[in-house]
Amino acid sequence: MIERLFPCAYAESAFSIDYAKLYERGYRGIIFDVDNTLVAHGADSTPRVDAFLESVRESGFSIVLLSDNDTQRLERFTAENGLPYIPDANKPNPAGFEEAAKLLGLEKTQVVCVGDQVFTDILGANRAGIDSILVKYIGYYERGWKGKRRAAESMVLAIWRITRKRHRLHDIEIEGMAAT
Ligand SMILES: [Mg+2]
Repeated sequence: MIERLFPCAYAESAFSIDYAKLYERGYRGIIFDVDNTLVAHGADSTPRVDAFLESVRESGFSIVLLSDNDTQRLERFTAENGLPYIPDANKPNPAGFEEAAKLLGLEKTQVVCVGDQVFTDILGANRAGIDSILVKYIGYYERGWKGKRRAAESMVLAIWRITRKRHRLHDIEIEGMAAT
């Protein structure tokens, strides 16, 4: 059961993933979470983030943004980068992840989801049968229930590391991305 919360890999940040290597492994599409994955919660994109997204596209990937946030927020975020997006995704509902793969026009096995939350991004991707990479969240320490959820996430990750039950991205461990 807890395996449903395990990502395929862990990376320090969405910006540090070796996308060329993912391409080599057969992936062609990336589903990016937005808040706390690409920018701090609610923040607009920046020239640096847009340049990064463009570089991922230049590596051969199609990109779609999948967010629990609303249309208005995503419209603002995509003002410059023009990326397609799915708002109000209600993660971990797998429907949004499946819709994202369809929007990319790819098989689910060709798609990888990059997000900062175990209970939404990773669980949803696993439910949809899509590989996932967990990244460290951007932004300030969140208090209250979200802070508690972060503590629960840390426990899940600790178990994941101990059991080493992670399934690897297309069965090949990607250097620098494994949580060890
Ligand atoms: Mg997020």
